[in-house]
Amino acid sequence: MKTPIYLDYAATTPCDPIVADALSKCLMLDGNFANPASRSHFFGWQAEAAVEKARKQVATLLNADTREIVWTSGATEANNLAIKGAALVRSEKGKHIICSLAEHKAVIDSVSFLENQGFEVSWVKPEKTGEVSVSAIEKAIRPDTILITTMHVNNETGAISNIEEISKLARSKNILFHVDAAQSAGKITIDTSKIFADMISVCAHKVYGPKGIGALYVRKQSDFNLPAQIHGGGHEQGMRSGTLPTHQIVAMGAAFELAGSLMDKEFNKLQALKSMFLEKVLTHKSAILNGSIDKSVPGIANLTFKGVDGQVLLSALPMLAISSGSACNSATVAPSHVLRSMGVSEQEALSALRFSFGRFTNQEEVIFAADSLVDVLNKLAS
Ligand SMILES: *Cc1c(COP(=O)(O)O)cnc(C)c1O
Repeated sequence: MKTPIYLDYAATTPCDPIVADALSKCLMLDGNFANPASRSHFFGWQAEAAVEKARKQVATLLNADTREIVWTSGATEANNLAIKGAALVRSEKGKHIICSLAEHKAVIDSVSFLENQGFEVSWVKPEKTGEVSVSAIEKAIRPDTILITTMHVNNETGAISNIEEISKLARSKNILFHVDAAQSAGKITIDTSKIFADMISVCAHKVYGPKGIGALYVRKQSDFNLPAQIHGGGHEQGMRSGTLPTHQIVAMGAAFELAGSLMDKEFNKLQALKSMFLEKVLTHKSAILNGSIDKSVPGIANLTFKGVDGQVLLSALPMLAISSGSACNSATVAPSHVLRSMGVSEQEALSALRFSFGRFTNQEEVIFAADSLVDVLNKLAS
């Protein structure tokens, strides 16, 4: 077997060959390389047509309108645009924001920035399963609440939250609702005719597209004009300036269309792989699953190995490309804020590893990973 085996699809995915091919056709003179904003010649028109085709492909996956898609450099930028923009546009109405504690740093840090600027934040604990609690969000709502921001699928545990219910709640109170869907787009259905989010962040590189490109869905509605964070030539209906990267956008469109057509098949395949993996690994007495099997995506499994240090386990498994459950800064290892927010103890959070599977993972690799893991656990215990 070729090692190390890549089991870190939640961190990023390799490009699908179809996507890489589409991207490479937008780079050189004989390809679709031009500035899509060049209105005076054929090259520009061709690039613009390619960008608009990709916009349609991304919109289709969200059951949205093409005018609701704003290109960004990724989900981090989309989250910043959504959260800071919403706060800015609604600050006359109130200064209270609700945010879950299980969010990605791109959301947490954007909201913390606003907190330092004088906004008030209610940080809401998720359930033990990692799911963002609808009732906890409801309890946190105040008359001056202007924004609720939660994720759809958690990047560390795979926990799926009921964003449909939260969106109904937000709409009934006339509160803006933003969803970070970087881990769910292309994996499970996001239907904007059922999920009444005002803004949804997505990116390409978690779904077999390239890094450095994403989008923010911004619902078309009369009383909400999202202000730009990046100003310039007035691209993207004034919401995000900068020359559009044709190659990145075309690749993201191709990735999203492909993900839509493969979604059900891929979900079932990954579910079978995860079950097989967990069946083997959970037989070891030290292993505990963080989160639940039912309410999570099948591509991610987060496990604590009681009494074993996560970093020690990682270095004992050089043949597996996996992620520790914790955030590594250069000097120290901090326990994952996501696991801590779910009530996992500091010690157990430091003993967690994340395994994530994807399109190119096969059964052989999963069996090898599970067997190696159990083997190492037995050795470390003896
Ligand atoms: C990866 C990820 C992001 C950041 O996306 P980038 O495109 O890498 O900036 C944000 N939120 C979640 C949940 C993610 O998994």
